[in-house]
Amino acid sequence: MSTISTALPRRCWAEIDLAALERNLHLIRAALPAHMRYVAVVKADAYGHGLPHIAARLMHAGADLFAVANISEAAILRELGPGWPILLLSPLLPNEDRYLAEYDLAATVSTEEEVDRFNRVGLDAQRPISVHLKIDTGMGRLGVWHEHAAALHARISAASHLRLDGVFTHFASPDEDAAFTTEQRRRFLAALERCRGLRLSEIFVHADNSAGIESLPDASPFNAVRIGLLQFGVLPRPGALLPQVRAEPVFSFHTRVGLTKTLPRGSTVSYGRTRTLERDSRIAILCAGYGDGISRAVSNRASVLIHGQRCPVLGRVTMDQTIVDITDAPPIASGDEAVIIGRQGHDEVSLVEFSHWADTIPWETLCSITKRVPRFYRTALGV
Ligand SMILES: *Cc1c(COP(=O)(O)O)cnc(C)c1O
Repeated sequence: MSTISTALPRRCWAEIDLAALERNLHLIRAALPAHMRYVAVVKADAYGHGLPHIAARLMHAGADLFAVANISEAAILRELGPGWPILLLSPLLPNEDRYLAEYDLAATVSTEEEVDRFNRVGLDAQRPISVHLKIDTGMGRLGVWHEHAAALHARISAASHLRLDGVFTHFASPDEDAAFTTEQRRRFLAALERCRGLRLSEIFVHADNSAGIESLPDASPFNAVRIGLLQFGVLPRPGALLPQVRAEPVFSFHTRVGLTKTLPRGSTVSYGRTRTLERDSRIAILCAGYGDGISRAVSNRASVLIHGQRCPVLGRVTMDQTIVDITDAPPIASGDEAVIIGRQGHDEVSLVEFSHWADTIPWETLCSITKRVPRFYRTALGV
């Protein structure tokens, strides 16, 4: 499908549809109130899609702020887009503090110790350091506990070399527990009310991730959303999130048939002999395994698409190869393409379906595609 050529034939690869990414951003924006700013969450190599390509396209499409986990990811972004605002979502290690000034990054602040450390960086650099105050409203991870938020806010206000550019919280169960999400929102807004001199309209006020925006209240001080998974076209609960957003998958995962052969009824397939063939079978050996990101958990559970037909995985997934049953499929030959995640013909194995077979969540599946798998980027023109 991708028209980018490489020297070697592809054995196992991912295709990244950048045009779909851009369409998704526009769809999400259109579904949100016009004043909402778009925080593009591109941590973990942009969810395995490849940070530089994804970020460049999102800059082009008009993201307002980028959120990453750490300094290395921020450095890649900084090279791409000088001046683009970048928020670090994870805590900084003390010896990383100076990069806040060097790369002009916004830090997440949860503790008094961080306030003092980051202020010292600002003092040394002789310019203010941008911070977003994070409030823990029930996630139990980063952030100052909501009952103590006002005190931390006061400390930030009093710091000579900090500039408060945002306040935010993070939901623990936005896709599963609407009542607790509402309670988290309430705690957040109550905490903000207790912060003296806070001018919400001048800073980023954000709570919602892909799953949260469904319950976004109309009249509220929230003026930004943090979008990760949804911009990649993945809806963890089909139909539930922003139903008007028909986001398209950006990622697909492909391999090829290495060889085909027949095995007699009663023989067993792969390590551990977990599968005994109940009939004379034709099998195909695919050129991808857990070394590429096909979780061993999908052994005997997943199906792949070959010539548009579902072919079930037989036995355990191995490091470099996966075996599938092609007895019921049309003739298949070495070199034929197999789609592990994505569309082929009239059928599709979605990331959500594959993740279900793998007993995990789509976020983890995307982060599990290994570096052995080259990513090929498709643009609107197919090149
Ligand atoms: C990863 C992350 C997000 C994005 O979540 P999605 O569900 O992928 O949209 C938002 N906020 C924080 C703090 C995150 O760590």
